[in-house]
Amino acid sequence: MSGSLFIVAAPSGAGKTTLVRALLSRDAAVRLSVSFTTRAPREGEVNGVHYNFTSSADFLARRDRGEFLEWAEVHGNFYASSRPWLEEQLAAGHDVLLEIDCQGAAQVRNIFPDAVSIFIQPPSFDVLGKRLRGRGTDSEEVIAQRLAAAEDEMRQVDHFDYVIINNDLQVALDELCCVVRCARLRTAVVRARHPLSFLPAV
Ligand code: 5GP
Repeated sequence: MSGSLFIVAAPSGAGKTTLVRALLSRDAAVRLSVSFTTRAPREGEVNGVHYNFTSSADFLARRDRGEFLEWAEVHGNFYASSRPWLEEQLAAGHDVLLEIDCQGAAQVRNIFPDAVSIFIQPPSFDVLGKRLRGRGTDSEEVIAQRLAAAEDEMRQVDHFDYVIINNDLQVALDELCCVVRCARLRTAVVRARHPLSFLPAV
């Protein structure tokens, strides 16, 4: 692949979506993959922009046709990343970011070992609980499920290349931008992008 692939995962409420949006507005060269999901749209979510919302039957048919790079069931709904879209973007040299859960991150790492994986960690469980309640989008039951899932996800941190503790949004954003910039300076990436400035590969 010639573009860089970034995987960003986090327990829900860690501030992953806010951070990723802020990164995209700072760095126009990063393209965000729009996932497929069987979850119902939340208020303000637009089909094709936030997610490709679809039925379980359509999701499973696409999965069986091999259209997904990875897929997972999260909180009772299916989520997946589009394989053809991703392959097309990377082949064209674009940097792509997948905002997915830890199960999906593990699948993508197996397929693309050079992918750069970043785990966004909330400062504490207390802060996580407050953030989930503050969103006002989920019931107490759903919040309890998400906190339990967060505990499991926090155990996955050692599989990631980088960890950003999202205590202060500006600091976390600077750190995320820094990871992206460093990843672009990897020798293999620079060599692929500027072949004429190198001697032939050994
Ligand atoms: P939400 O329903 O709150 O938007 O997302 C729930 C979880 O599913 C989040 O951790 C989110 O990152 C994850 N997710 C979103 N899209 C995908 C995807 O394409 N694949 C996987 N494995 N997880 C996803």
